[in-house]
Amino acid sequence: MTKTADDCIFCKIASGEMEVPLVYEDDHVVAFDDISPKSVVHTLIVPKEHIANLNDDPSPELLAQVFGAVPEVARIKGIDQSGYRIVQNNGDDACQTVHHLHVHLQGGEQLPV
Ligand code: AMP
Ligand code: ZN
Repeated sequence: MTKTADDCIFCKIASGEMEVPLVYEDDHVVAFDDISPKSVVHTLIVPKEHIANLNDDPSPELLAQVFGAVPEVARIKGIDQSGYRIVQNNGDDACQTVHHLHVHLQGGEQLPV
């Protein structure tokens, strides 16, 4: 059974308890647009299993599922050819605000260096 956490907004989205338009879904991962986009395209790629961040002992399989979905989500968002950036925050100094592992996929414009 997939590990989840109470009061975790990304668990609620990943389980369908909180409905948001999904950009992508497979057995292990969902992707949806960031509610507060910092670029023209700003989509979050989130494992269905609750893992707080990279310090929370994610399995290599889970990491492959999350990072492996990135090119497909980039294709769906139409930014695979123009280029994109991925960002993944861990802990306070990185300003992680949602403590459920996720990758930010950003693009659709020239991003700052
Ligand atoms: P981080 O700072 O890496 O933890 O990023 C968390 C991201 O989740 C932020 O960019 C928020 O704008 C985004 N976010 C928070 N709540 C939601 C939500 N309900 N739907 C979509 N994005 C969200
Ligand atoms: Zn969670």
